[in-house]
Amino acid sequence: MQRITILGATGSIGVSTLDVLARHPERYSVYALSAHSRVDELAAQCIAHRPQRAVVGTAEAAGRLAALLRAANVGTEVEYGEAALCAISSAPEVDSVMAAIVGAAGLAPTLAAARAGKKILLANKEALVMSGQLFMDAVAESGAILLPIDSEHNAIFQAMPQFGGRTPAVRDASAGVAKILLTASGGPFLTRDVATLEDVTPEQACKHPNWSMGRKISVDSATMMNKGLEVIEAHWLFGAPADRIEVVIHPQSVIHSMVSYVDGSVLAQLGNPDMRTPIAHALAYPERIASGVAQLDITEIATLQFHRPDYARFPCLALAFDALRAGGTAPALLNAANEVAVQAFLDRQIGFRQIDRVIAQVVEQLPHGAADSIEAVMAQDAAARAAAERCIGQLAR
Ligand code: NAD
Ligand code: MG
Repeated sequence: MQRITILGATGSIGVSTLDVLARHPERYSVYALSAHSRVDELAAQCIAHRPQRAVVGTAEAAGRLAALLRAANVGTEVEYGEAALCAISSAPEVDSVMAAIVGAAGLAPTLAAARAGKKILLANKEALVMSGQLFMDAVAESGAILLPIDSEHNAIFQAMPQFGGRTPAVRDASAGVAKILLTASGGPFLTRDVATLEDVTPEQACKHPNWSMGRKISVDSATMMNKGLEVIEAHWLFGAPADRIEVVIHPQSVIHSMVSYVDGSVLAQLGNPDMRTPIAHALAYPERIASGVAQLDITEIATLQFHRPDYARFPCLALAFDALRAGGTAPALLNAANEVAVQAFLDRQIGFRQIDRVIAQVVEQLPHGAADSIEAVMAQDAAARAAAERCIGQLAR
C-alpha cells in the first residue's frame, strides 16, 4: 500500500490525481491533502478520501475546515502554513508526494520531499525552474525518485532508455540522444491575428483548445511561457543543453513529445490529452495501471501537423531560452516576473501583450547571480516580484 500526499489537491492536477487513486483503493491510500483557500472543496475531498492530515493556507481557513470535518465526523488533523506543508511532504509515513501547487509557493514543500528521499511526482514546474541545480542535487543526495507529471516530460521520460533504473543525461554521448523534441499545442492564439492580441480577455486566454487546466498555466499556454518553462524543466530533468531542446508546434496534442536519437530513430509517446495518463504512469511506475482515460483511437486522428514556433508571436518563448542560457538565478527572475504579470493580466490591470513586456523589463533591469542557495533564489524571486509590480504600476497609469 502506497501512502500519498497531494500538495494542491483542489487544483486541476490534484483532482485528476484523486480520480486515479480512487480507481485503485487496494494500491493507494491518501496520507495528506493540501489546498490554499478552497476549504469547501478540501472538506469534501477529506470526507471522500479520509486522509490523516490536511493543510490550508491560513489559521482562518484551518478553523473553517476543522468545523466542517467535525460536523461530518471525520478525524483528519487540520494544520496551516508552509511548515505544515513541508511536514506532510517529508513525514516518514509518506511514500509518494504529488507536487501540484501552482507557482513558487510549491518550492519549499517540494524541496522538503526531495530532501526526505520521497518518490516525487512533479507537476509544479515552477519549483524546478527556480531552483534547478539545488533541486536536482537534493534529489541525488537523498536518493529521491523524481518522476515528471508534465505531459511532455512524462512522454520524454517514457521515450528515454533506463540505464540501471536511471535516465541518462542527454548531454552524455552514451545516451545516444540527438535532441529532445518538445511539442506544444500553441494555445488558443496560435493563428489569431497578432495585431488583435492586445485586446484578448482573461476568459479567452484561459480557453485552451485541448487541455482543461488551472488559470495560471492556461495563460502561460496562451503566451507560450508554459513551453519556455518546460524547456528549462527539460534541461534539468534530462541533463539537456539548451541547443538540444527543440520546440515543435503540434496543434492536435496527440504526440506529447519525442526523443530523436543519433541513429535516426525518433521515439514518441501518444495518447488522448488527459493528465490522468501521466499521473497514472508516474504513480504506478514501472508498472502500468488504468487511468480512466479512453484508449486513443489512432484511426480517428485525421492528421498530425508539426511546424516551427513563431518567436515574434510568442516572445515569452525566446525570453525563457535566454534565461536558460544566462543560467544562475535568471530563470528564477523570469518565473517570478511571469507569475506577477500573469496575475495582473487575470486581474485586468494589464493587457495580454504587456505580460511579455513586464518580464522583459524585469530581467533586463535586475542582474542575475549565482543560484547557490535557496536564500539567494528566494531573494531574487522577491526582487523580481517587486520590480514587476513597479513596472505594472507604470503601465497601468
Ligand atoms: P490549479 O490552479 O488548478 O491548482 C493549484 C493548486 O495549488 C490548488 O490546489 C491551490 O489550492 C494550490 N495553491 C495555490 N496557491 C497556493 C499557495 N500560495 N500556497 C499553497 N497552495 C497553493 O493549478 P493546476 O493547473 O492544477 O497546476 C498545478 C501545477 O501543475 C502547476 O505548476 C502547473 O504548471 C502544473 N501542471 C499542470 C497541468 C494541468 O493540466 N493542469 C499540466 C502540467 C503541469
Ligand atoms: Mg506541459
